[in-house]
Amino acid sequence: MIYDYIIVGAGFAGSVLAERLASVLDKKVLIIEQRPHIGGNCYDYYDEHGVLVHKYGPHLFHTDNKYVIDYLSQFTQWQEYEHRVLASIDGQLVPVPFNLISLQKLFPTSIASNLEQKLIKQYGFGVKVPILELRRTKDQDLNKLADFVYDKMFINYTTKQWGCTPEEISPEVTARIPVYISYDDRYFQDKYQMIPKQGYTKLFQNILDHKNIHIMLNTDFKDIVSLDHDKKLLAIFGKHYKGKLIYTGMIDELFDFKFGELPYRSLQFKMENLSVKHFQNATTINYPNNYDFTRITEFKNILNQDINSTTIVREYPQDFDRKNPDNNIPYYPVFKKENNNTLKVYNEYCESFQNIIAVGRLAEYKYYDMDDIIARSLDVFVNIVDKSGE
Ligand SMILES: Cc1cc2nc3c(=O)[nH]c(=O)nc-3n(C[C@H](O)[C@H](O)[C@H](O)COP(=O)(O)OP(=O)(O)OC[C@H]3O[C@@H](n4cnc5c(N)ncnc54)[C@H](O)[C@@H]3O)c2cc1C
Repeated sequence: MIYDYIIVGAGFAGSVLAERLASVLDKKVLIIEQRPHIGGNCYDYYDEHGVLVHKYGPHLFHTDNKYVIDYLSQFTQWQEYEHRVLASIDGQLVPVPFNLISLQKLFPTSIASNLEQKLIKQYGFGVKVPILELRRTKDQDLNKLADFVYDKMFINYTTKQWGCTPEEISPEVTARIPVYISYDDRYFQDKYQMIPKQGYTKLFQNILDHKNIHIMLNTDFKDIVSLDHDKKLLAIFGKHYKGKLIYTGMIDELFDFKFGELPYRSLQFKMENLSVKHFQNATTINYPNNYDFTRITEFKNILNQDINSTTIVREYPQDFDRKNPDNNIPYYPVFKKENNNTLKVYNEYCESFQNIIAVGRLAEYKYYDMDDIIARSLDVFVNIVDKSGE
């Protein structure tokens, strides 16, 4: 078969684009995936105890984007699920993000009420105030509260997660961590919060189930595709390839790291099955101040599975090292100022190849949630249609 498109990566970016190109434009698509499975980091499977576990960490779907829900609903039914996270602070379990319930649990009643009134007066009820902004307040009581939240919930967790201080990380990342002036103890406030009823892998199988889509697993794209850097051309098995390459892997790897390596943070997931019905009081519990791991997630709570044992996962953040099999999976781009220039050089170089489209978390070096990357891939598809005039 002659392929119109070669897509590297079977995560959401690659799979959504493959589906659109095949179903809407009747294009022939080859997906090359280095892992033994589809689904990218959203891949899930039933472990030997019957628990549906997420191999690359818990994935909770949430969005305000109806367009994304409508698209995905062609391929899955949903089970409603609202995620709740607790943090272990001074021997107490309190809601994350830090909210008015957390305040009441950690402070004597009169102090908590005073702080609550001040927070509402200064920022308003229902408002999320980034922790770094709260630290700048001139009110002495709120300032002390900000320091408390910063010290007990934020600094150690962030340092563990990123391997550096919050100040070294772009405010885009740290601004995501708020104090929430509310009694709403849900982790997300999006309009749609649900999980594919039969899991993410089944959803991906349905997305990719099309006669025009051919998938090669366990294959590194470099074994098949090569780039001619002088003529800016592509070859497949050594023969000139006239179609397009949609690339969703690491942008620096695509170009053999010729402008340097972009840093990533990696994770190790340690799963354990326990012979108890329930292990903890929330699906996820964060441990900001103790242990080397950041959080524990209990998977069976997500789809409310009725099973006698339970499977949990502990997450240990670590630096990414592409040469070390223990930590060679790039999970999070590390947003530091000094990386912006390298990224810009790679982006410009990529644009000089007429037939390469770089899209996705790794190819764009951006933190995308699942709904973001699906929306982005649907937009990229619209651009392809607009440009080709089809
Ligand atoms: C720990 C963790 C938890 C998360 N939790 C949530 C959550 O709760 N909610 C949410 O909305 N989002 C969550 N996300 C984000 C979510 O995982 C991403 O939005 C999504 O995976 C991005 O899809 P993608 O296709 O861009 O990348 P990926 O899923 O990473 O897919 C890229 C694929 O390309 C393949 N590939 C790369 N290089 C090559 C190569 N050289 N040859 C062949 N194949 C290659 C990879 O193997 C991979 O399968 C989480 C992310 C992480 C890391």
